[in-house]
Amino acid sequence: MDKPKIVILGSGYGGIITTKKLEKLLKSGEADVTLINKHSYHYITTQLHKIGAGTAQDNKIALPIEELIDIAKIKFKKATVSSLDFDQNQVLLDNGEAISYDYLVVALGFQVETFGIPGINEHAFKIRSFRSSKAIYHHIQKQFTMYQEDHDPARLTFAVAGAGFTGIEMVGELVEKLPKLAKHHNIPFDKIQIINIEASPNLLPGFEPSAVSYTTELLNKMGVKVMTSTKILECNENYVKVDSGEIATKTLIWSCGVRGHQLFEEAGLKTTRGKMEVDKFLRIPTLKNVFCVGDNALFMQDEKTPLPPTAQVALQQGPICAENIVAAIRGTELKPFHYRHQGSVASISDYFAVGKVGKFVIKGKFAAFMKQIIEAKYLFCLGGPTLIIKQLVTGPISSAKVTAKQGQ
Ligand code: FAD
Ligand code: NAD
Repeated sequence: MDKPKIVILGSGYGGIITTKKLEKLLKSGEADVTLINKHSYHYITTQLHKIGAGTAQDNKIALPIEELIDIAKIKFKKATVSSLDFDQNQVLLDNGEAISYDYLVVALGFQVETFGIPGINEHAFKIRSFRSSKAIYHHIQKQFTMYQEDHDPARLTFAVAGAGFTGIEMVGELVEKLPKLAKHHNIPFDKIQIINIEASPNLLPGFEPSAVSYTTELLNKMGVKVMTSTKILECNENYVKVDSGEIATKTLIWSCGVRGHQLFEEAGLKTTRGKMEVDKFLRIPTLKNVFCVGDNALFMQDEKTPLPPTAQVALQQGPICAENIVAAIRGTELKPFHYRHQGSVASISDYFAVGKVGKFVIKGKFAAFMKQIIEAKYLFCLGGPTLIIKQLVTGPISSAKVTAKQGQ
């Protein structure tokens, strides 16, 4: 009998952890496993805002996939998935290739939600991928250079849309980086303005009030103009239109929420904002050989509460998904997924953070330290102590491996 073919789509948090667990669980020759990803590197999505602001080295965030997996056991294919054919059990790639599977894991992550607001797709910068984040930094650098020629204040006005976790983290990095760029270009720092625009009455909507007031005060102290109760209605390359008027800026960084990848919708399945509902075993209820993890999956904790799109959900789902595929191959019982919330912490530069762990709100330098521990724990999951040491000692990687161009 042919060996079962397992195909994993996406090598972000959910995809790579599922792959690594399969690597451990499968006996030699038990199945063929292929991991397919758009790029030859895995990027640490939770750190993309640092790439956007230029506060992290590329090689700390983008890690060559073939160094993270056992290539003797897993076949890696660099390709973009263009469609899913569930009738034929095939995945179609942009190079025209069709890949057959017996078991499929879809872990293609999130897409930026624009709510159809005019101009966002075309003109706002997105923290979506390593490349799209790198494009933000290139654009920021260009604004400093161009300002020296035309002295247009809109070049030094940097607007971040949304004050959820992504928006706050992006603002924190800009606060850290922009004074350095100003100094480098001999531009007085008081010419620079960072604006955070949020539709809700508060930053971090829905979060603990003490965390909200801490963050608001900190951003005010850092010189950030916080505009709450302000909804973005439109943008182009020169301004952002909000409900109270227009802001002249050449930089709008859009962090107003996410949706699931569009490939399920395009395959004719019913989704909720691109998210595909999965059962307690992380399978698509109508397609028992198709699993979905991470931001692409809609997992209901109870009738009303879906799990949020976070790395910690993807990280916990990956191993259960791998165990269930192996159980399906071996004809043993599948395991239901149970989520354990371990807390949430948002960084505000390298020096401050805010979050909640258990019942406790944590903030300031202690929270920043906790955030670093969380990130180190992930590196440990990915590559053990060797990767952590490598991250501490290596210099920039070759630009041939990670080419930063605008786009996805
Ligand atoms: P992703 O990690 O996005 O991976 C998807 C992968 O699929 C990528 O490698 C992508 O290149 C690939 N891909 C996409 N389309 C295709 C295609 N057509 N063909 C082939 N490959 C494709 N969550 C937390 O819990 N804690 C945090 O601190 C945190 N910080 C965050 C900070 C930022 C700036 C952002 C943007 C998000 C943050 N999140 C955080 C959320 C977290 O990053 C996501 O929930 C997590 O990455 C989801 O994992 P995933 O595997 O579903 O998707
Ligand atoms: P989000 O949905 O959490 O926040 C988006 C924000 O944008 C909201 O506050 C919303 O009110 C605002 N907004 C929406 N439309 C707007 C408009 N037209 N004008 C102005 N403001 C508008 O999205 P996010 O921050 O991108 O986070 C996505 C997911 O990633 C979440 O689940 C989040 O928890 C997770 N995440 C976690 C961390 C962390 O744990 N450190 C960091 C980043 C992201």
